Formats: sequence, structure tokens, C-alpha cells
Amino acid sequence: TQAPVNVTVTGAAGQIGYALLFRIASGQLLGQDTPVRLRLLEIPQAVKAAEGTALELEDCAFPLLVGTDIFDDPKQAFEGTNIALLVGARPRTKGMERGDLLEANGGIFKPQGEAINAGAADDVRVLVVGNPANTNALIARSHAPDVPAERFTAMTRLDHNRAITQLAKKLEVPVTDVKRMTIWGNHSATQYPDVFNAEVKGRGAAEAVNDEKWLAEEFIPRVAKRGAEIIEARGASSAASAANAAIDHIFDWVNGTPQDDWVSMGVPSDGSYGVPEGLISSFPVTCTGGRYEIVQGLQINEFSRPRIDASVQELADERDAVRKLGLV
Ligand code: NDP
Repeated sequence: TQAPVNVTVTGAAGQIGYALLFRIASGQLLGQDTPVRLRLLEIPQAVKAAEGTALELEDCAFPLLVGTDIFDDPKQAFEGTNIALLVGARPRTKGMERGDLLEANGGIFKPQGEAINAGAADDVRVLVVGNPANTNALIARSHAPDVPAERFTAMTRLDHNRAITQLAKKLEVPVTDVKRMTIWGNHSATQYPDVFNAEVKGRGAAEAVNDEKWLAEEFIPRVAKRGAEIIEARGASSAASAANAAIDHIFDWVNGTPQDDWVSMGVPSDGSYGVPEGLISSFPVTCTGGRYEIVQGLQINEFSRPRIDASVQELADERDAVRKLGLV
């Protein structure tokens, strides 16, 4: 076994945190050979609840869990961290304008970026889950100038997994038959799940579906609005599936993707596919040796192009809004 890896989780007392921490501690985030030390960050009012979760973690006697520490100060929480899962965010509440939402989240992600810059381990990898995830990641990244930009990522893996299942159900195949799914753009209702580059048992997925109306009117909105469908059914937002996607995102980043497949991650654009450099946008990526690379050379057809562009435009608008607020 190796030295323990420090994993910081923010918003640890929330719903997603509750579904996430036990899976991290059981070894599902980094594998069964890697001990973990949890560092939980919460706002002061929620520290007590986080302490309760820490008691339950103790009661699991997880062999890989070296210890759990709880903080209400980001500087301490990110000290020595190798993996940072930024889950806590300010949700949009009734009557809140978009600018207010971005400003409130700036107040969270700016100090967290600074704390990561100041104290995280050299190999730190950051995943932002809290919404608006892409722009929150952009804010944190811009306050961590000493950390390589590519270490800041945003989660679109839940969208990716949702898209795989919807396609598999339509074609009546197991999810394992679906490869090379891509989510492009923002983790929001404008995201674009692309089946034109996906494959089902080695065959083009769009050709296998052969129903553009289904794609435009059912598949895309179903995937993009799945969060609302869950809230409607459950009376609460998705939590276990979001936690599962966070686990998948980090596991694949660290351990690599299979030869014949890729995953979707929100990553700083290098200008690929016409996405302005620096925007944190979802792309198809392959991972090897603990690094990811944007898949190059995919065809973007007339159906896909305007949909990708619309989502990327939304990201550019969010960036302009946080720039105006002095947050990036
Ligand atoms: P959840 O744990 O349900 O959600 C946390 C964040 O994840 C929200 O921003 C939510 O966005 C986002 N999210 C991303 N993808 C999904 C998805 N697919 N489904 C659901 N949520 C998704 O929120 P809780 O309110 O239960 O918990 C938040 C915790 O964070 C609280 O304990 C709070 O105290 C803490 N917090 C901590 C901070 C810190 O550590 N500094 C700062 C702010 C809050 P959306 O709202 O759009 O669903």
C-alpha cells in the first residue's frame, strides 16, 4: 500500500457529501490500494452535522480511512490536499438574479482557489461539482496562478452517464455497449449530448438510432433536464448519482480511460473545436498516466455545431459576468 492521499470535500454535510464520503472512504475513489485521509470543509453552521457524518465514518471501520478532519477555514481544509472535491455552493434561491448567484459563488470559490494555491500539494487535482460548476471552476482557477490551469475541472460526468443510459435504453442494449459518448459545453440546460461521435457495438450510434426527431425532441432535453425530473419524482435533487459521477470523474482521471472509449470532463479549453481558450467547457477526453487530453479530430456536423456554439456562448456570457464583478 501507498502513503495516504489527502482528499478535501467541501459542502461535506450536504446531500451529495453524504452520498460521497462513504464511497471515498471505502476505496472507490482511488482504488483498493490507496489509503485516504478526509479533510471536510463546511460553513460554521454545518460543522456539527459534518461531525455527525465523521462519527458514522468511524463506525464503518473502513480499512483505507486513515482519519477525518473537519474545518470551517479553507486555508486549513486545503493544506496538503491531493484531491479537492468542491461540492458546496450557493444554490439559486427564489427571486435571485443570475448576477447575485455568481457573486455569492465568487465569495466561496475565490477564497477556495486562493487556499488551494497557497497550501495544496503539488499534484492537486480539483473537481468542481457545486453549480454553476464551470464558472465556479473558472473563478477558483483564476485565483490559483501557481497551480497548472488544467488541474481545475468541472463535472459533466453525470450528464455523460445519463446520456449513455438514455441511448442504451432507446436501442435496448446494455450500457456497456455504448462507447464514446460526449457532453459538450456547459453543465446547464444548454449542454449538448452528442451521439454522432458515439458508438454502439462499434457502429455509429446516430445511425443505429436513425431518428433525428427523437434526438432533438426527446434525447437531448431528457438528458439536459434530467435534474428537474429527479426533483419532481424524489422531492429532492439528485445526490447519489451526482456523487457517483464525481467518483467516476476522479477515478478515471487518476487511473485512465479504456483504449476504445473516452469520458466527458469540463476542462480549460485550449481552443479545440472553436471553444475560446480558457473557458472551462465540457469535452471528450482520454486519460492516461494521471493526465487527460482532449480528443482531437472529431467531426462536428450541422446538427451539432449550433448546439455546441450555444452552450459555449453561455459559458462566455458567464465569464463576462464574473469578469465584470472582478471575480476573474
Ligand atoms: P447538495 O449536496 O445537494 O448539492 C451541492 C451542490 O452540488 C449544489 O451547488 C448543486 O447545484 C450541485 N450539483 C451539481 N450537480 C448536481 C446534480 N446533478 N444534482 C444535484 N446537485 C448538483 O446541496 P446541499 O444543500 O444538500 O448541501 C450543500 C452543502 O454545502 C451544505 O451543507 C452547505 O452548508 C455547504 N456549503 C459549504 C460551503 C463551504 O464549504 N465553504 C459553501 C457553501 C455551502 P444545484 O443547487 O444547482 O442543484
